[in-house]
Amino acid sequence: MYDVVVIGAGIIGTSIARELSKYEAKVLVLEKANDIANGTTMANSAIVHSGYDPVPGTKKAEFNVKGNLMYPQICKELDVPFKSIGSITIALTDEDVETLNELEERSKINGVPVQRLTREEILEREPNVNKEVKAGLLAPTAGIVGPWELAIACMENAMENGVELVLNNKVEEIEKTETGFRITTNEGIYEAKVVINCAGVYADELNAKVHGEEFAIKPKSGEYFVLDKRSGNIVNSVIFPCPAKKSKGVLVIPTVHGNTLLGPTSTPIEDKEGNETTKEGLDYVRDQVGRMVENIPFGNVIRSFTGLRATADRGDFIIEESKKCPGFINVAGIESPGLTAAPAIALEVEGLVKGILNDLKPNKNFNPYRNRVIHFEELPVEEKGEIIKENPQYGNIICRCEKITEGEIVDCIHRKGGATTVKGVKKRVRPGTGRCQGGFCEPRVVEILARELGKNMDEIVYDGPESRILIGRTKK
Ligand SMILES: Cc1cc2nc3c(=O)[nH]c(=O)nc-3n(C[C@H](O)[C@H](O)[C@H](O)COP(=O)(O)OP(=O)(O)OC[C@H]3O[C@@H](n4cnc5c(N)ncnc54)[C@H](O)[C@@H]3O)c2cc1C
Repeated sequence: MYDVVVIGAGIIGTSIARELSKYEAKVLVLEKANDIANGTTMANSAIVHSGYDPVPGTKKAEFNVKGNLMYPQICKELDVPFKSIGSITIALTDEDVETLNELEERSKINGVPVQRLTREEILEREPNVNKEVKAGLLAPTAGIVGPWELAIACMENAMENGVELVLNNKVEEIEKTETGFRITTNEGIYEAKVVINCAGVYADELNAKVHGEEFAIKPKSGEYFVLDKRSGNIVNSVIFPCPAKKSKGVLVIPTVHGNTLLGPTSTPIEDKEGNETTKEGLDYVRDQVGRMVENIPFGNVIRSFTGLRATADRGDFIIEESKKCPGFINVAGIESPGLTAAPAIALEVEGLVKGILNDLKPNKNFNPYRNRVIHFEELPVEEKGEIIKENPQYGNIICRCEKITEGEIVDCIHRKGGATTVKGVKKRVRPGTGRCQGGFCEPRVVEILARELGKNMDEIVYDGPESRILIGRTKK
């Protein structure tokens, strides 16, 4: 019997798993996908929000502000890319200036530092912002992060500290028993004293299985463009418009790896797997960002994608032990700013678990640190030479666009919770994220995965189990 089963290996489930690995507890993470962070954690704006925007008094506001403060330390411990670049909300009309006043008031209540900027100050910092800009609100504590890199790092660190992860296990039934819960997946049966539901857009369906307090999740899709690194720094901070009623609006966002994201839209949809992009959505993004920022090189778009917000009908994060079904903890409706809030949500859930399993002892061997796969391209020449001498795989460049070596790919496959798919390798060390989008390196990544995992090349998939790349030989 496990002490705790966490359902879902997105940023919420993995952050909680890491927090619980600080205790001598038997913890298991069950994930239906074949990799960590394949849900919403894979497709969002990657902003560590400052927290001035959520409505004061909500859980969103509370955990956003707390989570933001935790980011520098967590990313240092887990060696994950994080940049504190600040955000600027810009006012283009007199009405927007009124909204900035309201946001400034809200920031005081939420306890978040902000600074008013004049038109001249904005244009000095951000020469590509629309010259008609009237004023702006700088939030210096906002930042950017690698969201899936953080989730992978949390899981790897949790596993180093004793947590188990089982992929390809979709939870189908959860029954309350005398001693806890029986959890049935497509692959097996697991018993646990406590169950934590972090199933993203599916959290309402899992909650319904134990007849917990009712809530429903209706996804809202957000579509994006990704610009190639060669576009350079179009903006230096995250640029927000004044927020719309239903969302934060369409943004221009630098990424930690030097690309630029443009998006997202905010469209309610029915399909919980509906992550396709649409012409209307992308046209809307193009139109909206063009109003805020000039000189956007749309010729440098290398990809578009869609993420799904897990919007709950309660209008706020749901982080609570079910009263109807004690021992079952819902961490649901975690839409934006859920990525930012994740470390603080994990602390809150740790408290709930300690309240249920009141004999938890600290894990004396807990090690908070984890080193990322080395990024060979960033190393000084002498160090590169030394590493190649030790392991010649680092002298073999596989991805020409991003200069990723075979050594990096092999390392990310053999780590705890390591990559088993082409997308898994891409998420961890980035071959295929450059201009050619894998045109050159993908077959070589397939070859390396097959060799390292002891599989045939035609067994290697791009992402999901049906996404086969090779289906048979064309020549004998
Ligand atoms: C367009 C968009 C932009 C956003 N931008 C930001 C931002 O800039 N900053 C910010 O702070 N937040 C942002 N967010 C919110 C943030 O991305 C989410 O809050 C966060 O990723 C949610 O993580 P999660 O772990 O709850 O969900 P997910 O990442 O979806 O993880 C849930 C996991 O549960 C698994 N699962 C589901 N059902 C089952 C089952 N039956 N059995 C086993 N496993 C199951 C899924 O496969 C998935 O891996 C954004 C969200 C969107 C959509």
